[in-house]
Amino acid sequence: TQARIGVTGLAVMGRNLARNLARHGYPVALHNRTHARTQRLVEEHGDEGTFVPSESMRDFVQSIERPRPIIIMVKAGEPTDAVIDELADLLDEGDIIIDCGNAHFADTRRREAALREKGLHFVGAGVSGGEEGALNGPSIMPGGSAESYATLGPMFEAIAAQVDGTPCCTHVGPDGAGHFVKMVHNGIEYADMQLIAEAYDLLRHGLGAEPAQIARIFADWNAGDLESYLIEITADVLAHTDADTGRAFVDVVLDEAEQKGTGRWTVQTALDLGVPVTGIAEATFARSVSGHAEQREPARAAYPDAHAESDWRPDDVDAFVEDVRRALYASKVVAYAQGFDEIQAGSKEYAWDVDPGAMATIWRGGCIIRARFLDRIREAYDADPDLPTLLVAPYFVEAVQAGLESWRRVVAIAARTGIPAPAFASSLAYFDALRADRLPAALIQGLRDDFGAHTYRRVDKEGTFHTLWGGDRTEEQQG
Ligand code: NDP
Repeated sequence: TQARIGVTGLAVMGRNLARNLARHGYPVALHNRTHARTQRLVEEHGDEGTFVPSESMRDFVQSIERPRPIIIMVKAGEPTDAVIDELADLLDEGDIIIDCGNAHFADTRRREAALREKGLHFVGAGVSGGEEGALNGPSIMPGGSAESYATLGPMFEAIAAQVDGTPCCTHVGPDGAGHFVKMVHNGIEYADMQLIAEAYDLLRHGLGAEPAQIARIFADWNAGDLESYLIEITADVLAHTDADTGRAFVDVVLDEAEQKGTGRWTVQTALDLGVPVTGIAEATFARSVSGHAEQREPARAAYPDAHAESDWRPDDVDAFVEDVRRALYASKVVAYAQGFDEIQAGSKEYAWDVDPGAMATIWRGGCIIRARFLDRIREAYDADPDLPTLLVAPYFVEAVQAGLESWRRVVAIAARTGIPAPAFASSLAYFDALRADRLPAALIQGLRDDFGAHTYRRVDKEGTFHTLWGGDRTEEQQG
């Protein structure tokens, strides 16, 4: 049998993608550096479809119908380059190498350009949803040429998660577009999780509630606008009891959040593109703060009484819970608006022509940030593809307006009681800056002109100006 597609790299992700393809009727060629992994897959799951295993890369390549789509699912970084090099020598013009690993979009752009020179297609595809998604339906964000998508698209759309009959996969755009969008997806995931964590912390310390009680609050929220996978599993994790100690699971876990780097990439890229993704940045920094045990410990000792109002309790518990819910929703709108701004900025910078509404559509299933909310984002971009920010789409204006007073109360309570809520606070500050009549940026321009003659523009006439600060303070027009 000739395989329709190949997968090399059969650790948990590659193995599950291969099984998913086979279960959908595509004969799959299999290869892994260590052949035992290939053999194990065939032994354990050979009855799920047609697998064509090969020990050598050459036989693997020969076992696939041309143009050959070959998925690489190996460790990101150097291993990916090594496998690409090995494959490229064995392939024929028009064949398609697909990197489904978590590559940086700049690496994907570099690889795509190099392989294009050799007459090969290179597709950087973001795959979200972890192991479970890879097996049962991930959200897939493939970049690369339209021509490669013509071959690959039907297969990827078949194995992707389906929501209301629509696959969670679409052609994102050329070269690095897919990995870029996957990166921002992960950044939004960071922000979403941080906001959830802050909401939990506010409820925990504001109400003095136990994790199991808060689990019920989240379960309740999951029945409304906030309905999402992350809210659902928050209820699950908070309700869990540690078998060893009988304590709430969340109380026995070390409070130092780790990261693999996609949040950092999202923020670094946003800085380069000049997009203020404050929510994602706060989320990334909050993980970083949590990890600095060597500073947290002495700081705790130096400020033993900083929680002056730690026994603060709301007068009306239900009203406080509703305030936190609304603040969470409004902050989440900001985080997503900023993430979509970054996608739009990347798309413009690299001429990818990414359709933001389509990204919201393919995130509705299979991925970590899947949520009811994404339908609202898609509708906003459908109604106005040139939306300057999601925050001005009518639905979101209404949602933010409805939550605004709650949002302010919650941020004020966090500040008063000493509960750290950096993402709540900074998203509110971002919102207030965006909607302000005048910003103190005018003063900053004045300072820059004073110390560095950096010039400024005026509200009342065209041109750039400089004041002779060290002299008689006359104003000169510079351009
Ligand atoms: P790992 O990242 O653990 O990588 C292991 C695989 O890489 C094995 O098949 C291994 O082969 C192969 N490999 C490592 N180095 C080389 C090399 N130099 N040459 C050839 N093969 C090599 O596997 P995962 O399945 O966890 O992840 C694969 C990719 O998917 C990664 O890029 C990851 O970032 C990404 N990803 C992972 C997710 C997850 O939830 N795990 C979610 C989304 C994306 P061998 O068996 O011979 O050691």
